[in-house]
Amino acid sequence: MKFFKKSEDDHLESIAGELRQKISAARMPDAVRKIAEQELDVIARISPSAAEYTIGITYLDYLLSLPWNKGTEDNLDLGRAERILSENHYGLSTIKERVLEHLAVKVLIMSKKARVLIVDDEEIARKNLAHVLTKEEYDVVTAADGESALRELDTKEFDVVLTDLRMGRIDGIELLERIKVRYPETRVIMVTGYATVPSAIEAMQKGAFHYIAKPFKLDEVRAAIKLALEKKTVRANTKGSVLCFAGPPGTGKTSLGRSIARALGRKFTRISLGGLKDEADIRGHRRTYVGAKPGRVIEEIRRVESTNPVIMLDELDKIGRDFKGDPASALLEVLDPEQNRAFVDHYLDAPFDLSSVMFILTANMLDTVPHPLRDRMEVIEFSGYTEEEKAHISSRFLCPKQIREKGLSPDTVSFTDEALVKIIREYTREAGIRNLERKIATVCRKIAKASVGLSGGPQPVRVTADAVERYLGRHRYHADVIEEQDRVGVATGLVRTETGGDIIFVEAAKMKGTKELIITGSLGDVMRESAQAALSYIRSNAGEFGIADDFFEYHDIHIHVPSGAVQKDGPSAGITILIALASLLTRRPARRDIAMTGEITLTGRILPVGGIREKVLAAKRAKVRTMIAPVRNRDDVEELTADVKTGIEIRLVDTVMDVVKAVLI
Ligand code: ADP
Repeated sequence: MKFFKKSEDDHLESIAGELRQKISAARMPDAVRKIAEQELDVIARISPSAAEYTIGITYLDYLLSLPWNKGTEDNLDLGRAERILSENHYGLSTIKERVLEHLAVKVLIMSKKARVLIVDDEEIARKNLAHVLTKEEYDVVTAADGESALRELDTKEFDVVLTDLRMGRIDGIELLERIKVRYPETRVIMVTGYATVPSAIEAMQKGAFHYIAKPFKLDEVRAAIKLALEKKTVRANTKGSVLCFAGPPGTGKTSLGRSIARALGRKFTRISLGGLKDEADIRGHRRTYVGAKPGRVIEEIRRVESTNPVIMLDELDKIGRDFKGDPASALLEVLDPEQNRAFVDHYLDAPFDLSSVMFILTANMLDTVPHPLRDRMEVIEFSGYTEEEKAHISSRFLCPKQIREKGLSPDTVSFTDEALVKIIREYTREAGIRNLERKIATVCRKIAKASVGLSGGPQPVRVTADAVERYLGRHRYHADVIEEQDRVGVATGLVRTETGGDIIFVEAAKMKGTKELIITGSLGDVMRESAQAALSYIRSNAGEFGIADDFFEYHDIHIHVPSGAVQKDGPSAGITILIALASLLTRRPARRDIAMTGEITLTGRILPVGGIREKVLAAKRAKVRTMIAPVRNRDDVEELTADVKTGIEIRLVDTVMDVVKAVLI
């Protein structure tokens, strides 16, 4: 019995010893190492059969598995970055430009000559230090006393101030205090010949970065300055580093994120915020039960084994619908450079420095993103592609990629341009190219299947427009705008949705009743209000429309927008609803091939709307020939590139009556 007990004790002791060794080898920050050691002491005192023992060991294992000091070195060669971004992406020139600018700021911050201020009343000491540090490529300024140091600080900011502690009227401590108020980021290193422990402690408590006693070795000063600058650049480097890519699905947000990581030589990983249900998914679960887990951010860092990966946080706009807790504040802790240097995951219960992670957020629309978050992001807008761009991207990127991925060879399989255009026009209707890529993948899969087991190896296959139908079946999308007739009570509108721009048909019907307005088709509050406003405008101008005075007394009006599964909201459908109503009540059919967008006022003015480019692209996809947009969107229309504007006429209007004249037959 005794024997077993002893061997069990030995076993436990050896586990503890092993953990202790691992902890000291793990290069954790001091604070974390202490936490780990304390935890180990606690575990050593409890029985291995207790649940706390397992929880404790699992926790320590987790702490040890984190890459506390392991990161990748950034490659800041901008030319190379530009090449990588272009290699994988067609077009997107403004977006690439913005990304490169963002990286350039990083490079500048990293390569800027650091500014050092030397304050010392002994001329020889001052000159010597200045000489040595200038040789080290620092930008050095000297001052003989506190007063002149303050004068220098009035006009410039310094990265590091190296100051004597004892000087005339304004001593080192006072200088330190003034610097900390004005430039909290500046690192102050105290130097003194009268090194006494109390003054050193006082200086450190007041925020000095380091303390050096005279006589010092030059190496000591060099090392202290270097350390101070390292800490500072890491921090400056991350300011504003939260990029947000906003735009419809399939427009290249994720793949550009991957390319940025590749260009920088960083690891890449994604977290889908849309799938998170709970604050604990971000901040972690408290370590009180077996199975408690850290949050996703820490978990991903562990998985990629790097403290500075590019982490893409997807679907920022999908978070929060049924989220427990406050997602915005949890995310801010992760993203905000002021807070994320010491991010405390509830499971870790110890600070982890997230400041060198590059976060990229993605969203389809920014309308629902809380303001405090939006303020921290640099938003880069992605937009849908034109048909020509889609054709280009598919022949240059998507086809070769899919052909290779399905085990085929680009030498034997090819797509004709007509085939690609047919797939784009008749088998997809989207702003991005996600479904397009899927359709191409389907074709390649079928070719792969057909070529398995052929004697004499794979035969060359040329996918023509005719062949497309064989591979993909009958086409899915009809040109429902031009193939159908103009109707009374139906108007064609353009709205912006999460997936880009979209075409809608607003229908209006009347029936005997008592002045009721019925609205259906999953419309949001703002769109419902637009419907009210449209009806009020028509009622107040009934005479002009030739509607009988008592018509509204005895009728109900029903407004419906089909494709009920799609959530629709926003004020820009106002004019479409109004035209559907005007058409119904005047019995004049509305032209189906004219699509419109615009917010209306009760006085009949048309207010500008967002998403013009997306709407133009949507109109062209649906074969609309004329688009009506508010005159106050003139700038947006003029900014559109020629390839977006060709093939569609855009008419700018100012009042409701302009539209009535143009659309009602
Ligand atoms: P998102 O993240 O915006 O939904 P993805 O990055 O997943 O879109 O893009 C979908 C597919 O389209 C990917 O295979 C991507 O490589 C490709 N793609 C998107 N935009 C481009 C482009 N401009 N050039 C080349 N390929 C692109």
